[in-house]
Amino acid sequence: MYERILVRYGDLTLKGKNKKSFVKKANKLIREKVYNESVKYERHHDRLYILLNGADPDEVIASLKRVSGLLSFSKVSKTTQDLDKIKQVANEIVQSELDDKEVTFKVETKRADKRFPLTSLETSQEVAPYILSRTNLLNVDVHNPELTLDIEIRRNGTYIYCKKIAGMGGFPVGIAGKGLLLLSGGIDSPVAGYLAMKQGVEIDAIHFESTPLTSIESAQKVVDLTKKLSQYAPENTIRLHLVPFKDMHQALLEHVSSRYNITIMRRMMYRIAERIAKDNDCQVLINGDSVGQVASQTLESINSVTEVIKLTALRPLSFYDKQDIIKIASEIDTYDISIRPFADCCTVYVPNNPTTKPKYFMCDKFEQKFDYMSLIESTIKRVNTIEITPDSPIKLALEGVTVKEALNN
Ligand code: ATP
Ligand code: MG
Repeated sequence: MYERILVRYGDLTLKGKNKKSFVKKANKLIREKVYNESVKYERHHDRLYILLNGADPDEVIASLKRVSGLLSFSKVSKTTQDLDKIKQVANEIVQSELDDKEVTFKVETKRADKRFPLTSLETSQEVAPYILSRTNLLNVDVHNPELTLDIEIRRNGTYIYCKKIAGMGGFPVGIAGKGLLLLSGGIDSPVAGYLAMKQGVEIDAIHFESTPLTSIESAQKVVDLTKKLSQYAPENTIRLHLVPFKDMHQALLEHVSSRYNITIMRRMMYRIAERIAKDNDCQVLINGDSVGQVASQTLESINSVTEVIKLTALRPLSFYDKQDIIKIASEIDTYDISIRPFADCCTVYVPNNPTTKPKYFMCDKFEQKFDYMSLIESTIKRVNTIEITPDSPIKLALEGVTVKEALNN
């Protein structure tokens, strides 16, 4: 029934050069995600047509939903300028959109080809009764209809479509530069990474892993989360930097009182992340902090981390509540991975009384107790960077008990 998909770009308040690079980037992403040999692309001003040539429209739309910067899509049927034909196709499309529920309805016609004998209004007035007489489920409402049938009459044919399917919105990923996502195995940080990409920021991911103190499955979780996120990334690829954190972890357990353990751990993570960001052209850090969620996410704790780095750390979830975060995590299919029960380095050895109001001078005091700078240097030298795509076959747990062993095997 459908012969093409109409794609509407997002934020078209953009002008001139910005708009051009927006559209160019979005088109590149569309080709990467749709990745189908039979489809063809046709550009018209502020919209794009994807000619299906036999490709499954729903599959194409599922791919388009992973392209940031797109506003909406419609499945379009093309027919001739023959009025009987238009009525028949219009009716088929509307009927296919109905389930058993009554809906309000309107026909909207645009006559771009003025040679067509009826005006736009006259065309709608011909088509609407034809459809209405074939079902009891439609009630006309021209002001606020739930379902609108669009008919565009052009010189080369008539284009008919019904539904607007929402896209991701936002900006084409990459257009705003690149950030480094601190990715734990939890629920929040993958959502933060998704929101960053949705807003146009490409990401690398960094994960601090303490294998074999923590289980190799906790690192696998992060690989699997990155696979999900890579579906939205340019070229369907995200680079994941796995930082061997066990030695630092042990040093912290040895030198830092349990009340300050997590605070200092986070300060070390951010020092390392800042360096990895700079080495990989990432302009900001991105994390999954949400104010007040846990002891490490009080305003005081957030500041205690920011104090040790110069790079800006963006926190897209700062003021989201958990239910909203879980909703997005479910939509992007990361939730089920995040709730797998393997401990990461923040959940192993959690002190039972972490401070919620860390003091700078106390942080300094603990950090002076050991040579953390050389530990940071030796850790950075041992970072394992891997490229992850949606179908990366990486199965760490089959290969060893530490990330290093697994990647070497
Ligand atoms: P999440 O669901 O993202 O794990 P959380 O509620 O468990 O969040 P924390 O464990 O306090 O919160 O972590 C806060 C943020 O710090 C995470 O969202 C993530 O950005 C970063 N982070 C924590 N642990 C790690 C880690 N092992 N590697 C990389 N980043 C981490
Ligand atoms: Mg966590």
